[in-house]
Order: sequence, then C-alpha cells, then structure tokens
Amino acid sequence: MSATVDAVVVGSGPNGLAAAVLLARAGRSVTVYEAADTIGGGTRSAALTAPGLVHDECSAVHPFGLASPFLASLPLAEHGLRWCWPEVDLAHPLDDGTAAVMVRDLDRTCAGLGRDGRAWRRLVGPFVAHFDDLADDVLGPVLRWPDHPLLMTRFGVRAAAPASLLARTFRTEAAKALWGGNAAHLFHRLGWPLSSSVGLMLIAAGHVHGWPVAEGGSASISAALASLLRANGGTIVTGRPVHTMADLPTGAAVLMDTSPSAAAAIIGDRLPRRIARSYRRFRHGPAAFKVDLAVRGGVPWTAEQVRRAGTVHLGGTFDQIAAAEASTTRGVMPARPFVLVAQQSVADPSRSVGDLHPVYAYAHVPSGWDGDGERSVIDQIERFAPGFSERIEAVASRDPTGLGERNANLVGGDITGGANDPLQLVARPRLALDPYATGVPGVFLCSASTPPGAGVHGMGGFHAATRALRWLEQG
Ligand SMILES: Cc1cc2nc3c(=O)[nH]c(=O)nc-3n(C[C@H](O)[C@H](O)[C@H](O)COP(=O)(O)OP(=O)(O)OC[C@H]3O[C@@H](n4cnc5c(N)ncnc54)[C@H](O)[C@@H]3O)c2cc1C
Repeated sequence: MSATVDAVVVGSGPNGLAAAVLLARAGRSVTVYEAADTIGGGTRSAALTAPGLVHDECSAVHPFGLASPFLASLPLAEHGLRWCWPEVDLAHPLDDGTAAVMVRDLDRTCAGLGRDGRAWRRLVGPFVAHFDDLADDVLGPVLRWPDHPLLMTRFGVRAAAPASLLARTFRTEAAKALWGGNAAHLFHRLGWPLSSSVGLMLIAAGHVHGWPVAEGGSASISAALASLLRANGGTIVTGRPVHTMADLPTGAAVLMDTSPSAAAAIIGDRLPRRIARSYRRFRHGPAAFKVDLAVRGGVPWTAEQVRRAGTVHLGGTFDQIAAAEASTTRGVMPARPFVLVAQQSVADPSRSVGDLHPVYAYAHVPSGWDGDGERSVIDQIERFAPGFSERIEAVASRDPTGLGERNANLVGGDITGGANDPLQLVARPRLALDPYATGVPGVFLCSASTPPGAGVHGMGGFHAATRALRWLEQG
C-alpha cells in the first residue's frame, strides 16, 4: 500500500485517539485502525449485567482526565464529554467501622484526618499548590531537563521514597491506610524505591481536579475524542487488527498504541536488534480480576461516608495492603487482595436503572492468574458492608486472560501497560532519551507502555504525535 494518508494509528485507546487528534488538528490526514469492533481500548463501557445498566469495562474514575495538559486543551465538552464528581472522591473503610476520606478540598481532608492532617498537608501540599507545573513535567519523559527543576527535585525526593517509609510519617492507621490505597495504584511492592510516585500524583491531582467519572460511562471519553477526530477529517476503522507493516500504507507516519512486544512483532525485521531485544524483554506487571455487579439499593457500607464516595479502596491497614501487593508481585494470590471499587452512580445518577446501581470492582491478582477472583472481591466488599451479597442481582467477571483477549495491550491482565518497577518507572519502554522512537524512522510507540504510563490522560499519544508531526514536517 502506498501512502494515502499522512499518518496511521494502530489502536484506538485514549493514547491512540489523542495522537490522532493532535495530528488531525495540525492539518494531517489520519486513519486509526482498531482491532476490536468498538473503539476506546481501556475506556469502553457496556451493559454487562442487566439491560440498560452501563458498566465501565476498564477505566472508571479519571483523576488525570482533567489533569492532562493535552486533554484539557481540547474542546471535548463540545463533543459531548461531561465530568461528574462525587461528594467524596475517595473513601477507605477500616475494620472498626470507620473510614478515612479524601475530598477535593485539601483543608477538609486534613481536618478529617485529625492528628495526621498536618502530615498529609506536608506530604502533598506543595504539589497541590503547583500542580499544573508538576503535571507538565511528570506527565512526560522522565529522562530530560524539567521545565520546573526545583519543584521536580522536591517531587523526585518524595517520589523516590518507598511508600512504606512515607507511611511512617503518619501516626493513625486511618491516614496510613488512605496513603497505602493510593500508593497501591502502582501495582507493585510498596517497600521499593519510587513506590510513592504514583500515589503522590493521584492524591495531588485529586486535591486539584477531584476524581471524576465521565457522564454516561467512560466510553464518553473515547466518543468525544473520536468525534473531535472526525470533525477534523480523521477516520477510524474498527475490526481491523494490524499484524505486520504490510497491513499499513507505506510512507505514512505510524503510531502504535500497542504493547512493546506487539510493536516488535508488527515492525518485524526493520526494528533495530537492540530495540527489538528491549521490547521483548519489557516486563509486565501483576493483573486485575475485574468484577461488575448490578446491586439493588447500592452497597450497604458500614461507614456512612463510604456510601457517598465515587472510589473506595479495600484492603484494610497499610501493612495489610503492602503485604497483599508484595504477594501479587511475587506471583502468589493473597487471601485478601487489594480491591478497588467505583460507585459511578454516586457521581452520575443517570447510571442507575431505578434502584439498580452499577458497582465496579477489581482485585489486584498475580499476572495471568487463572483462579476465581469473584469470591475474593465480594468478600472484601462484604467485610466493610455486611449484607452486600444479598443485594447482588447480577455479576459479570473477567479474569486476566479474559482482559487480554478483549485488548491485546493487557498482557497477562496487566492494566498498567507494564510493570511499575523502579527502572520501568523511569525508563519505559527502554532506556532512551526519546522513549517514543522505535528506531525506525517515522514509527513511534504511543501506548501506556511509554511515559507517563497508565491512566486516561492521552499524554503518551500527545508526546509521540508531537514527534510524528516533526518527522512529517521534515518531509
Ligand atoms: C480494568 C481496568 C481498570 C482501569 N481503571 C482505570 C481508571 O479507573 N482510571 C484510569 O485513568 N485508568 C484506568 N485504567 C487504565 C487505562 O484504561 C489505560 O491506562 C489506558 O486505557 C491506556 O490507554 P492506551 O491508549 O495506551 O491503550 P488501551 O486503552 O489499552 O488501548 C489500546 C487499543 O489498541 C488496540 N490494539 C492493540 N493491538 C492492536 C493491533 N495490533 N491492531 C489494532 N488495534 C490494536 C486495542 O484493541 C485497544 O483498543 C484501567 C485499565 C483497566 C484494564
């Protein structure tokens, strides 16, 4: 095929669509090829349990949807995207029937944490105060001179610390646990260097932008990006898996919203041997076991504040969460895994059908784990909400293999686009000044396996497309 378009994007996840939008708005002709029958990758939604009850298949809550400098620059509201905030952004129930709570307002959060309010403010306050500057530097390649060196140094010192070390700055189990649940988004050992990085960014983003859901479901995010893309002349072809470069027009810039190993397979012999080796050696992290439930009357949480929370972290104390995360990273399923719950209808009542509410949950499990995680998820919810099981009307589950079958990027059920070990946090997908370059002129990697990693922010797509545009301009 000779080039009929300036650029092609392989994959229509948020990074692929963001890349396509940037190029189309710069006046370039773009086609997106998506393997699945529906667009969106990690932002798809569907009625999985009961007619009309929309569940989010992957992402549900979007601290980085608004924090992303690129997504924030786009007129997505004109294309149907509306954010909805719960009254309580995050709750972390404990076995004594109480809960630690994070709301957007830093002062209120600190007041709620009592004796640990000051420690919470010391930990995240500076990053909340200068969040936009921080986002500019953190949501991109790490190995470069930052735009805000002092702020980045301050962030770097905290982020480099093991989450278990920062947990010691708190005196109460509640604050320690609230910190631990945030840090656990790393999907890795909480005692390792850099294990504070993800949690710090999530908390800072939460205190500035909240943790919103997309009205009508996460698919609204990809629908808005796709609508903006089409309005700028771009095209999306679904049901079109790309297997080799021969499936793509020659001469076009290529942006791969894929895993590094899939990119290596598609590019084949043209990929420099050194880079092919790093792509094949790229490490994937632990997995998710996803459970979606139709729940009559919502979850009967013991702690009242949890009923008003969009996101709920389940795992008990910091030490219990850290032990569970260490176990899944080692490849051993813990008796009580860390579980994340989203109650989207708390923020967006249009998600409920009468008294039936969608409840979203996933447990952290070992990579490729083939056990039944449904019981573990329900038991963790029941632990903090006795009587929950009796309210369940229908359940739909997807194990790590099922997640990978639905989206090839979720290798072994890894939802973070690659293991967040210290090296890959700094250098993903490989140690390189330009992590988006594949070594083949005009071919770029743009998925969550590139900086800044997982999350619905489109920043991997933005950075890769900026490079593709430069390549096209050079002619
Ligand atoms: C269960 C789960 C829960 C999550 N929760 C959240 C959350 O609450 N908040 C949040 O911000 N993030 C969350 N995430 C992470 C977020 O969804 C991802 O980080 C994000 O979607 C990554 O975007 P991406 O564009 O890099 O890749 P993806 O969204 O994974 O999209 C990749 C796309 O490329 C397509 N593709 C792959 N290979 C090919 C090929 N060869 N040919 C054609 N098409 C191909 C795939 O079908 C897919 O559509 C979650 C993810 C999962 C799985």
